[in-house]
Amino acid sequence: MATGATGTNTICHITCPRCGHVETEQMPTDACVFFYDCPGCGGRLKPKAGQCCVFCSYGDVLCPPNLDSKRFAAHVIDTLSDRSQ
Ligand SMILES: [Zn+2]
Repeated sequence: MATGATGTNTICHITCPRCGHVETEQMPTDACVFFYDCPGCGGRLKPKAGQCCVFCSYGDVLCPPNLDSKRFAAHVIDTLSDRSQ
């Protein structure tokens, strides 16, 4: 299935919704990233409502925990909705 010879493929391209800057980031495989500081404009990105991390919201791929377990994502979504912004 996986073709990555050097390990898990956790590269994600994040597109900043404020300035359009695209940054290549290494995603952690065992955690979700809730806050990300855009190197283009310095703005702090947060996940969109219902999504578990900035990679899922602004990246071109879903985060590893999300790909690995839908239940994990559902759990996080529940946590986020509980805190309604
Ligand atoms: Zn930006």
